Amino acid sequence: MSSKKKMVISQKTMELDVVRKVEALSGTSVRRCFQCGKCSAGCPMATFMDHPPNRIVRLLQLGQWRRILEGRSIWYCASCETCSSRCPNKVHLASIMDALRKLSWDYEGPSKESYVQLANKLFLDNIRTYGRQYEMRLAAVFNLKSGKLLKDFMLGPRLLTKGKLKMFHQKNKNMNEIEKIFQRIEEMRKKGEAL
Ligand code: SF4
Ligand code: SF4
Repeated sequence: MSSKKKMVISQKTMELDVVRKVEALSGTSVRRCFQCGKCSAGCPMATFMDHPPNRIVRLLQLGQWRRILEGRSIWYCASCETCSSRCPNKVHLASIMDALRKLSWDYEGPSKESYVQLANKLFLDNIRTYGRQYEMRLAAVFNLKSGKLLKDFMLGPRLLTKGKLKMFHQKNKNMNEIEKIFQRIEEMRKKGEAL
């Protein structure tokens, strides 16, 4: 697991540009944290995380954001804000978790545990291609790309016979409009107006 990998701290491994982005997006400074651990002590999801909330902040202080994105913590966070309300230094950790989830879109190493970002990308790819969700394709490509070829294999036939899943799909009639939305968002992202 990523948390057991040896961490080398040097100017080369401290990537602070992304950390600044996290701070800007979350509106909170990671430098305020003095590692009291109150956030992790109150976090209901900490036991499921590879990096508990206080360590997330510490890793950011050290510019080690890649280690965070390789792990599963950001995807287990329930956005309950307990950490933020317990912090004596007003570090808004729930917003930091949110910012990290948004930034993970652009970086390699989305959680290998949950494949959440892979599912997000395939979901949007289906919308762009068909103008609506095509569950059969979503499941097939997800299984292929995640290497879990037989995941939910027995569920498929049951859903098909009940009409909950369609083998083939028709495209939405307004594909031009949908494509325009995607292109507009891409333009906004290039200009830094959207994530
Ligand atoms: S409660 Fe605040 S100061 Fe304490 S470890 Fe968590 S983020 Fe840092
Ligand atoms: S917001 Fe996330 S990290 Fe903070 S206490 Fe809730 S589950 Fe834990």
